[in-house]
Amino acid sequence: MHFVEVILPLSLAKTFTYRVSETEYHYIRKGMRVAVPFGKSKIYTALVIEIHQNKPTLYEAKEIHQILDENPIVTEIQIAHWQWIASYYMCAIGDVYRGAMPSALLLESETIISQKPAIFVDESLLSDDEFLVYEALQQQNSLKVQDIINILNKKNIFPVIQKLIDKNILVLQEEMLESYSPKLIRYVKLHSKYDSNEGLEELLATLKNAHKQKDIVMRFFQLSASEKKPITVKKLTEVAKSTSAIVKALIDKEIFEEYYIQVDRVNFSGKTKEEQLQLSEAQQIAFEEIKKCFSEKEVCLLHGVTSSGKTEIYIKLIEEYLETGKQILYLLPEIALTTQLVARLRDYFGNKVAVYHSKYSNNERVEVWQQVLEHTPKAQIVIGARSALFLPFSNLGFVIVDEEHEQTFKQVDPSPRYHARDASIVLANNNKAKVLLGSATPSIETYYNTQSGKYGLVEISKRYGNVMMPEIELVGLKDKYFRKRMSGHFSDTLIEEITTALSLGEQVILFQNRRGYSPVIECLTCGHVPQCPQCDVSLTYHKHKNQLRCHYCGYSMAKPNNCHSCTSVHLTTKGFGTEQIQQELVELFPNAKIGRMDQDTTRGKYGFEKIIDSFKNREVEILVGTQMLAKGLDFDNVSLVGIMNADNMLYHPDFRAFERSFQMMTQVSGRSGRSEKRGKVIIQTYNIEHNTIQQVVHNNYEGMYKEQLYERQIYKYPPFFKLIKLTLKHRDFDKLKEGSMWLFQVMQLNLTIPVLGPEEPPISRIRNEYIRTIMIKIPQNQSLQGTKKTIQKMMNSFESVAQYRAIKIAVNVDFY
Ligand code: ADP
Ligand code: ZN
Ligand code: ZN
Repeated sequence: MHFVEVILPLSLAKTFTYRVSETEYHYIRKGMRVAVPFGKSKIYTALVIEIHQNKPTLYEAKEIHQILDENPIVTEIQIAHWQWIASYYMCAIGDVYRGAMPSALLLESETIISQKPAIFVDESLLSDDEFLVYEALQQQNSLKVQDIINILNKKNIFPVIQKLIDKNILVLQEEMLESYSPKLIRYVKLHSKYDSNEGLEELLATLKNAHKQKDIVMRFFQLSASEKKPITVKKLTEVAKSTSAIVKALIDKEIFEEYYIQVDRVNFSGKTKEEQLQLSEAQQIAFEEIKKCFSEKEVCLLHGVTSSGKTEIYIKLIEEYLETGKQILYLLPEIALTTQLVARLRDYFGNKVAVYHSKYSNNERVEVWQQVLEHTPKAQIVIGARSALFLPFSNLGFVIVDEEHEQTFKQVDPSPRYHARDASIVLANNNKAKVLLGSATPSIETYYNTQSGKYGLVEISKRYGNVMMPEIELVGLKDKYFRKRMSGHFSDTLIEEITTALSLGEQVILFQNRRGYSPVIECLTCGHVPQCPQCDVSLTYHKHKNQLRCHYCGYSMAKPNNCHSCTSVHLTTKGFGTEQIQQELVELFPNAKIGRMDQDTTRGKYGFEKIIDSFKNREVEILVGTQMLAKGLDFDNVSLVGIMNADNMLYHPDFRAFERSFQMMTQVSGRSGRSEKRGKVIIQTYNIEHNTIQQVVHNNYEGMYKEQLYERQIYKYPPFFKLIKLTLKHRDFDKLKEGSMWLFQVMQLNLTIPVLGPEEPPISRIRNEYIRTIMIKIPQNQSLQGTKKTIQKMMNSFESVAQYRAIKIAVNVDFY
């Protein structure tokens, strides 16, 4: 008898055994996919992780339907890594498998597919089976895979669907809902009427008196002769020292034509930057130190102040690893940042850079997956957000985790709740690769690891080009309000500085922390604030849509005209967010061009890119934004950064509040004065003397670190204690209360370490489910694996209590 052991893409911790024929047995290798029946009538794409001859004892093994791959598409290193993730983060291996693979590779009977809209299909190129599916989709908008099984009257249909997806005819339904599209870059070329090179002389003659336009056209000719690649509007205006308005005029005259290419899909003609990147002395020293560090250690932290030129050091290191032929993984905290970086890296490495993240279409993700698997030069460097670490690397040599302190590296939901930085270090170890963590404000955990000698540490304390660190001025809000020096949320000092910056043609960034500043509608008569019917939170007022929305479940309603509690019509908006700051700005600076960057304005297509671009192109003078501003953006004309209110970050009830406040303020400040002139930062606060604020002012990372580390030790937090947070949910309040108390007591009895709770979190009901949390703190001297086993056992016995079975538990290891 012959069997395979497989992982199913379901939230199941076990692997399953299926029967295969002898021929199949000799054909199948670990890492291939097979279509298997499961449950009554479902079909799933399973992953083979073992081939054996051990008959399962508990159940009769079913036969697989079909082998889906000719070669493994998942490597053994990967499988081992996924098993580590499942074990470390206490989640089902099926969750990891499901989260790791592009969903096009995970077809199942329930998958819904439709035809890609607006495409031309050459029916003669379709096989009979493919044609039948295609034809069926002319009658119906979408089909379940199960329907197709019926139409074709056979079980082995995944390859048919896969082919149709590869041919770009079918898409998975989920994708249809995705609104994300990567950034488009604007290019210009000569208008097509000059395609034959005729009329060029006349063209220049017509521009005889338009010097600026003529100049830019001449520059265009020069550039196209020397670069032999598409020319961006940005490059052209830079080289010609001209403006986009003049390019626009030429487009209007039909001399130029504009066109757009998706930034990360541009194919360069192989020509990369010729003038070599020259590291500054400080960068060169850091570069050498990092290499030296790698001869002794696996992981190194590059702690370089904002604008010290960390990216350029990464580029130099990548260059060296490229020569060894190894693969390189570059992780970023935010998808929105990849476009900026990709453009920068493509300048150096041309076609060797691939991009991968969860918002990519299935086709694109499968394409990169294959490239990495086959180890093609096209994907030798992979840039991506956290999910890129699931790619089938087999020869990884170097991993960069940029902005390693960012909490977005930790996945919160759904499971696997992994930390991409930590998981990538384990992945690198399995590949014998080196890891470079980079940040201007390292996380306490990482810095602690450098102090204990586990990681190496390289520091740069100067900005590139000897640009000075910005000058930070504190403005005391208490005093300003007392002396009536405030206009709305703006102190006279801040207004003065903005006025000066604007008058010098410089740009301004204003930072408003999102947390706790969602605007709401309040009744002036009875004080009622509309609440979400399904969650215990106030509804947020969205002015431009004239709507109230729940940020937790998406519930929305039109803005009411009268109070739902007392029917009064006297309603007011309360709280202040970026929107209100923007409004106040319009009144204070009626002539300034103001932009806003927050969840609202960046939601739409290209939202983020548009705002960043218009700010870079100086079409916007003052940019108001939330945390998004803190993440590694490089603007060269910003001379002033204003932090509207530092206090609400500081007093967030979270053991990381001070660390985060320090990081946020330092990072936002770091956007100021990145070129010659020294930048300025104004921080408005009620707590001028607060240690964290003083540490920001004096750029005193060490001081922040030491203080926070001390607190962490006293109050039993990381890095001294590992945190595991259990979140229990149920629709029945009393049952949840009772169940979580039961589990808590069992844990307290059986674990000799701190167990806290069961706590009702500040938001204790979401989507009509009540929530309780239990926090477990595991000290350094205690076996982590052993404790996790005990916890798992107790959760299992919890599940075996009939009345608690319906209570869901989410486990979050290394809760952030
Ligand atoms: P960081 O990531 O440390 O904040 P960046 O890598 O974004 O800093 O560099 C800051 C600015 O300095 C960027 O505009 C970058 O192009 C420029 N820069 C840094 N190093 C160099 C170098 N060696 N040569 C030219 N420009 C550099
Ligand atoms: Zn009322
Ligand atoms: Zn809600």
